[in-house]
Amino acid sequence: MKKVIIVGAGISGMTAGICLQSSGFETEIYEKNPVPGGELSGWRRDGIYIDNCIDWLMCSKKGSTMNDLWYKIGMLEEGLKLYEKDKFFTYKGHGGEITYWRDKERTKKEMLQMAPEDKDAIEKFFENVVRAESMIVPTDKPMDKMGLRDFMKLGDFAKNIPAAQKAYKGLSLKDFANTFHNPVIRNSFLLMHPEETQVFSFIMSYATITSGSGHIPEGGSLAAALRIAKRYKDLGGKLNLNSPVKNVKLNGKTASGIILEDGTEVSADYVICATDANHTFTKLLPAEYMPKKLKKAFDDKEHFSVFSKFHAAFLIDCKTSLPEDTSFWESDGITVWDHEYKDVGVICYDYDPTVAPEGKTVIQMKLFQYADEVDKWFEIAKDREKYEAKKKEVAEKMIDIIAKRCPEAEGKIKVLDAWTPVSYAKNCNAYRGAYMAFVADKNTKTVTTPGVIKQLSNVFLAGQWLMGSGGLPPATAQGKYAAWRICRKEKVECK
Ligand SMILES: Cc1cc2nc3c(=O)[nH]c(=O)nc-3n(C[C@H](O)[C@H](O)[C@H](O)COP(=O)(O)OP(=O)(O)OC[C@H]3O[C@@H](n4cnc5c(N)ncnc54)[C@H](O)[C@@H]3O)c2cc1C
Repeated sequence: MKKVIIVGAGISGMTAGICLQSSGFETEIYEKNPVPGGELSGWRRDGIYIDNCIDWLMCSKKGSTMNDLWYKIGMLEEGLKLYEKDKFFTYKGHGGEITYWRDKERTKKEMLQMAPEDKDAIEKFFENVVRAESMIVPTDKPMDKMGLRDFMKLGDFAKNIPAAQKAYKGLSLKDFANTFHNPVIRNSFLLMHPEETQVFSFIMSYATITSGSGHIPEGGSLAAALRIAKRYKDLGGKLNLNSPVKNVKLNGKTASGIILEDGTEVSADYVICATDANHTFTKLLPAEYMPKKLKKAFDDKEHFSVFSKFHAAFLIDCKTSLPEDTSFWESDGITVWDHEYKDVGVICYDYDPTVAPEGKTVIQMKLFQYADEVDKWFEIAKDREKYEAKKKEVAEKMIDIIAKRCPEAEGKIKVLDAWTPVSYAKNCNAYRGAYMAFVADKNTKTVTTPGVIKQLSNVFLAGQWLMGSGGLPPATAQGKYAAWRICRKEKVECK
């Protein structure tokens, strides 16, 4: 039985492990953290659960191979309760309110009532939301190995997705928003994704919800990560936690295994690096082995940016009138590192009774952090006291916003935790604290890189950085693709 070592127990690494165990390989995962899941995570503070990932899960509706993969790895399972989001988000600001309902016809009607002057732009937007509902993430085999026949099987995807992308070609979300006269609608496009993002990202995210997917599994992200880890172990996989890997051990054109930070060497027939791509090629493997397309994107910071967020979680000692799930509020000009934010993102977790504490409310607030702000967080984090003080300062400003919006919470709001791009870099070795892959701007094609290394015959890559900025589905698909490549080399079916 051939042995495969996987570095990283994020969703990508664990998916590779599950597929390989099912296909008859012996595998071991080495993970630096005490808990599996990587960015698919959550933790407790003062006994209260804080979720850190699934705001919506693409392909949660049955009927796609990605959905089958969710069930295979244990992200979803029969009997697991799924919270059906009735909206993508609500925005209250600029003197109005708009909700992107799951029911797109309702949203369209409300938009047309609010802004008859934007009729053409609104109709075009919904036409493309409908097209984007055909979005799927192929999982049978890597996309670079798909032939015409495989693409034909994708049905409407092959026709509708390029058409939706083309409809707004060369437009950033900011350009697109500016084509609307109504200030509420205009601003609502600039909240979920960075302004420089291609319009299609917003359309695709909303279409995930309108297509009948986008559910949130009960128990949130940590419960999902633990289910996946259990599935892997139940299949005989060996999960080594608290085991940071120093580098892959190379012997000419092959790897003979890995070396752990404590010096232990472990041998294997194959190695999969399911870690952040920058970490892989600055630490685990020689930098010059980075696939060209990836290197180009890392080097071209003007067109391929990354972002992260400042997050704070709050416990409110009463039930509030705050709406469940995701909203954006006017922020009265909260300023962080000289950047004034007009609006702030809020998630209220009341929708999940296993997470929301009895008689209390847990909410999170988030603010985008871009290049300069990320630099400032890394700089201040060199001094622990100053770093903690800065996080507290921002979180306390947020308390004022909550109290203003929700007077019944006044005096009852406590900061549970606050975290920054530095947290993601420290916990997951994430490049500049980013927790999504590159944001390709309006003039640039999304990066899709085959997870192979030209110079090495038995080392493969997995993880979100290989396939656009789509979060869990691309990361999971890439885990499957890495397993598929090894199965193919060994001439066994990838299960
Ligand atoms: C706040 C937040 C919200 C999100 N919301 C969504 C959402 O709603 N929907 C969605 O689809 N996606 C969402 N995402 C994105 C999603 O979490 C990621 O795309 C996905 O989890 C990435 O998985 P991965 O396996 O590629 O990488 P990671 O999760 O980063 O896994 C890599 C693993 O490797 C480990 N590792 C790194 N270096 C080493 C080493 N040297 N030795 C051993 N182990 C190592 C890390 O600790 C980590 O466990 C969100 C992410 C965040 C943070």
